[in-house]
Amino acid sequence: MSSNDDWVLEVRDLMVFYENALAVNNISLKCRTGQITGIFGANSAGKSTLMHTISGVMLDIKKKEAMTGGERITLFGAINFNEEDIQNLQPHKRARKGIVLCPERRQLFTESSALENLKIGGYLADKAQAKKTLAYIFQLFPELQKLKNREAGFLSGGEQQMIAIGRALMAQPKMLLLDEPLLGLAPSIETRLAKAINEIKQQTGITILLGEQYARPVLPIIDYGYVLENGSIVMEGTAEDLMNNPDVLSAYFGM
Ligand code: ATP
Repeated sequence: MSSNDDWVLEVRDLMVFYENALAVNNISLKCRTGQITGIFGANSAGKSTLMHTISGVMLDIKKKEAMTGGERITLFGAINFNEEDIQNLQPHKRARKGIVLCPERRQLFTESSALENLKIGGYLADKAQAKKTLAYIFQLFPELQKLKNREAGFLSGGEQQMIAIGRALMAQPKMLLLDEPLLGLAPSIETRLAKAINEIKQQTGITILLGEQYARPVLPIIDYGYVLENGSIVMEGTAEDLMNNPDVLSAYFGM
């Protein structure tokens, strides 16, 4: 069995309630250092809630809801990053430690240029590091080089997703949370982005947690995966284990 320090992130017995509705139900999972871990589940399975809770954004949402008299959000359980309990750490402090969220639907500044969007991601990095990362992003996504001065909102979905991933890389992640990066993209772009995500793992050693509705386009690149149903993990295993389970193939793998 591996030693503890093989795991950069460990989630233990996590529960998240929106008022009385249970969105994440007693989830425990681990992300092995330098690997890609997949989280698969249909709409509303709880993927984004999990990503928001790991990144800490959920604490901001909870605070905002409490201040505006909105819904009550309750969190239980533990999140350890490099064996440190971060459950109560504010999101910007988690980002400084290297936990960076690339959110669902990209959330770009659509009226800013592609380059401005990338640079915004690097505001915490030192100048030399930001310059190096920018060069890496243009190597990973050469198409962005010629589009860099175009308004992000006018670019294709695939190009916008490249910017969103690039912006997250500019924040110098050690642990990158990708929330449905392939959402709404054509199959050829899905393949292109899955390949790029794998290159990021191989070339930078960044640990990746990847949430997707359908596992099929990313099965070739994940090291380990979990299947979420109604907020609970119903199955876990290597890509091969998941592929060989007939119960989940049609529901989650589009096969
Ligand atoms: P999607 O693919 O639609 O993003 P998901 O797997 O990311 O789905 P979540 O967005 O985490 O799922 O939603 C999990 C559950 O929590 C769903 O039942 C959803 O309706 C509910 N939920 C999510 N956000 C809120 C909220 N702010 N208030 C109340 N319920 C919420």
